[in-house]
Amino acid sequence: MTQPIFLIGARGCGKTTVGEALTRACGFIFIDTDQALQAKAQKSIAEIVEEEGWSAFRARETATLQSVTQPATVIATGGGIILSPVNRDFMRNNGIVIYLNAPVSVLAERLEAFPEEAQRPTLTGKPISEEVHEVLAQRDALYRQTAHHVVDASGAPEAVVREILTALQVARA
Ligand code: ADP
Ligand code: MG
Repeated sequence: MTQPIFLIGARGCGKTTVGEALTRACGFIFIDTDQALQAKAQKSIAEIVEEEGWSAFRARETATLQSVTQPATVIATGGGIILSPVNRDFMRNNGIVIYLNAPVSVLAERLEAFPEEAQRPTLTGKPISEEVHEVLAQRDALYRQTAHHVVDASGAPEAVVREILTALQVARA
């Protein structure tokens, strides 16, 4: 199996962390759309949003998603990638989509421990747990409808990787 694997889910669900570990486990190449987008723009996401607005950021995100997609690649996506129907269709049609699902409490705990402020503009200006709750309430259904597999992402990264590999094997059988 060399189809691209797309990891989707809320901020802090582990797309980057688990993606890197999954890449090592299956010998794929790792790409993070947020990192690729920032490298191409030569600006941070915070700067892009501030200078160009969210819709320009979303347009850059769609272009990045399509340009990085190739065989044998694990693609960690930005949390809002599923807001665009174009992105949802593209991922479903061009690879296997995994939703890393974790409860609000776990996401909030991770983001509070590692806020990485400069890289992650808050979407609402509210406290982290409240924002995570609201954003997940809006997006959970989109993550689920886009995913081929929903995986529990609240365990350690190695455990999440094992769950993903199991889901992929079932899919191939
Ligand atoms: P995302 O890319 O989905 O926003 P990250 O991979 O950047 O998430 O993870 C956010 C934070 O949570 C990081 O500090 C990371 O070390 C931590 N983290 C991610 N996945 C796990 C996990 N499975 N268990 C514990 N901590 C994790
Ligand atoms: Mg990430």
